[in-house]
Order: sequence, then structure tokens, then C-alpha cells
Amino acid sequence: VKISKSYKLASRDFHPDSTVIKIKDVEIGGDQLVIMGGPCAVESPEQIDEIARLVKASGAQVLRGGAFKPRTGPYSFQGVGVEGLVMMAEAGKKHGVLTITEVMTPEYVDVCAEYADILQVGTRNMQNFDLLRKLGTIQTPVLLKRGFSSTYDEFLNAAEYILAGGNPNVMLCERGIRTFESYTRNTLDLAAIPVLQSLSHLPVISDPSHGTGRRELVEPMSKASVAAGANGLIVEMHTDPDNSMTGDGVQSLFPDQFARLMQDLEKLAPLC
Ligand code: PEP
Ligand code: MN
Repeated sequence: VKISKSYKLASRDFHPDSTVIKIKDVEIGGDQLVIMGGPCAVESPEQIDEIARLVKASGAQVLRGGAFKPRTGPYSFQGVGVEGLVMMAEAGKKHGVLTITEVMTPEYVDVCAEYADILQVGTRNMQNFDLLRKLGTIQTPVLLKRGFSSTYDEFLNAAEYILAGGNPNVMLCERGIRTFESYTRNTLDLAAIPVLQSLSHLPVISDPSHGTGRRELVEPMSKASVAAGANGLIVEMHTDPDNSMTGDGVQSLFPDQFARLMQDLEKLAPLC
């Protein structure tokens, strides 16, 4: 594979030791597998509180949930906004889990960082360079999702923007790419996991939910991702997926499926 290596700080040549990001008692990129679970979108205080409880009870370390949603169409539900950040922060604190939420614009970075432990850059914003530059000015860990049509080189250059700005706490997330196959929503590129880990020292997280778009594929692709060496997973789970406010209910696990997946994963890799 010909890689231009125009990036430097993201490269393993430059930084041979794997980066371990410590957030409270959780280490991402070390020996433990880190699981982030929760709904596509924060919907209400009751919803996120109950899901936080289930995430914690199952042994996962991080609660996911979007307050700002990057929707393909402008008439779709766009997220509950800042109120959602508050709801999720309260639920995370109450149940003792870290939180991750998506930030879409540079102006919202500071408020998102005030409420969440990890900031997510979505696939559609991987090359939102102003956003990446702004994320370089803070120290809050960032989960950078791979653009759905981006090469590894473009992905690592996007990470380089954040690192070059002065924030070393970046993790990479493979969330599926666009291919000719239409049975699945995206094609989860499993090879990205070992490739990125060889090219870069940054932790690699897999997203089998957006990577397949189908609930029944989340469990096998979670296990495949761990077998391929992923440092963690980000998985959608909802208490009432059929009535979720985004279309991602079809890829969201029911709580009992999520709990069972956690038990199975524990046999494959040590959890926190
Ligand atoms: C999400 O995590 O809900 C999301 C919108 O992800 P992506 O950016 O990978 O589509
Ligand atoms: Mn989603």
C-alpha cells in the first residue's frame, strides 16, 4: 500500500509507543477493551437516565448519545441540543459512566467539552478542518470517525490537524465506508483496524452499528472487530428502538442483547 505519510504526529514512525488516553479510571488504547454504548440521540431525561443505568449494569464504561445530530435531510429530527448535553451529563454522573457526544461546529466545542468527557467528530465532519483545528486547542479526548469515503491517509491527516493544534488525545473510529453493496448501510472495513494500528499509535475504536446498519450484524461484527485488535467499540443501544427519534433504531441493540454482548466480549478481551 502506498501511503504518502504527509502526516507526522499521527504516525507510528514518529511515536512508536501506542497512545493510551486516560479519562478518570478508564484507559483507552491500553490492555482493556473500552465499550461505549447508548442511543443514537439523547431524547429525554428519562430515556438517557435509564440507558445510562443499563450501560453501567452491563459493564460498559462510556455512555454515548447525540445532542446535536447530523441528519442527511433538513426536515429530520436534529437533536435536542444543549439541553441534551445537560441530561446526558447528569445521567453519566449519577450512574458512574463517562460520556461521549458529537460536536458539529467549532462554536459548540467549548459547551460540548464542558458537559461531555469525550467529543465525537462524525463521519460527515471528518474533513471539517475548522472544527478539527478548534478541537486541537483543547485537551478533551476526541473520537474521530472515518469519513465514509475517506482513505486511511486522509483519515490520519484529519487526526493530524487535531494533534498539530496541541491536543494529543485522539482516537480513530472505523464506522464503515460506502461501497457498491446495498444490503448493509455501510461496509465495515475490518482491515482498517490493524492497518491504522500499524500506521499510527492512536487507539482504534470500531462502530459496528453504523458500520452495518443492521441490528443482527452488530454482535458478529463487534466480535470480529475485537478479534482484529480494536481497542474498543461504540455500539448503539436503545430501550425502545422501534420508536427511537432517529432512523437508527434498526441498528440499535435491545438492552438484553447489549448485556449479552458484553458478557461474550469479556471472554475475548479484558474489560475494565
Ligand atoms: C452517530 O454516531 O450517531 C453518527 C451520526 O455516526 P456517523 O457520524 O458515523 O454516521
Ligand atoms: Mn446513529
